[in-house]
Amino acid sequence: MYNITKIKTNADGDNDTKVLVIYTGGTLGMIYNKRLRGLAPFDFAQIPDNLPEMSRLEFEITVLTLTNLIDSANIKPKVWLELAEIIEDNYVHYDSFVILHGTDTMAFTASALSFLLQGLNKPVILTGAQLPIGVARTDAKENFITALEMAAAVENNEAKIKEVCIYFNSKLFRGNRSKKQESVQFDAFESENYPVLAEAGVDIEYNFSFLNKNIPFSEFKIHKKLNENVFILKLFPGIYELAVISIFEIKGLKGIVLETFGAGNAPTDQWFIDLLSTAITNEILFINVSQCNGGKVNQGHYVTSAKLKNLGVVNGNDITTEAAITKLMYVLSCNLKYEDAQKLLGNNICGEMY
Ligand code: ASP
Repeated sequence: MYNITKIKTNADGDNDTKVLVIYTGGTLGMIYNKRLRGLAPFDFAQIPDNLPEMSRLEFEITVLTLTNLIDSANIKPKVWLELAEIIEDNYVHYDSFVILHGTDTMAFTASALSFLLQGLNKPVILTGAQLPIGVARTDAKENFITALEMAAAVENNEAKIKEVCIYFNSKLFRGNRSKKQESVQFDAFESENYPVLAEAGVDIEYNFSFLNKNIPFSEFKIHKKLNENVFILKLFPGIYELAVISIFEIKGLKGIVLETFGAGNAPTDQWFIDLLSTAITNEILFINVSQCNGGKVNQGHYVTSAKLKNLGVVNGNDITTEAAITKLMYVLSCNLKYEDAQKLLGNNICGEMY
């Protein structure tokens, strides 16, 4: 059903590391489409022509191309479930996985996969580019080649990386700690609340004390559901009652990421507190995430967050919005009682918060 291409490399025997590249689209593989008057994804066949360096790599590379190549602005939770299933189907056949993905929503996809791929003991590295691979000054070549090298890196017969990561502009980040921070410069990603996991200079330096350790005897399995009845509500000075009512009353709504100010603070207007209280009584799950990229939510530190704590809003600590919304989709799909779902949401599941 998928188009599978084996790339010619310098691998020479049965014991070579095998990397599966999953191509989803994104700028890396885009060319200017005259009819649509903009950059649009193109099939993978053009990529090896633009990247002859792949033939010098000493491991096996196979490319699986998704049926619909997309600009990642069009990614949907069902594609995350499809990616998880592809990895499950190929888990025993490959040593590692590289996902070529648009940068716009890469941090959401990486976060979602970190919850879906459970007991992961192999690298899953997402990468992409700010400039298409056919452009002379492209960043695609370095990003793709180094992501492949990191995916294939082993020590004592074990993969050096055992988690979902994003590699971009010389740095490897934990996927569920990353954010797209830049749309023009090449340093598209940052991970303000978690150290860089590896850095590529003349050598690739791995930050082993922050990389996930091997999980002995872990059984790899995937979670196959996500609940999409969620919303992100970003607070702003002047937010008004009717707007909040219309969001809290969305039919079927089950969870909200509340993007608050600073250390988790929100207006104390009675109408806001009353609406929140009713929504929580109606078992809508809330997680409090700061609008700041760095630092953490500390509910109760200020009077302006104490009420949230008392009402049962979950403290999101130092989680990103990208990780919080995908975690909410995951937790809500686990069929838990409200209090248990609150607990799971507030706990660290796979390194997404401290
Ligand atoms: N719009 C593109 C995408 O996310 C941007 C990129 O790939 O950098 O697919």
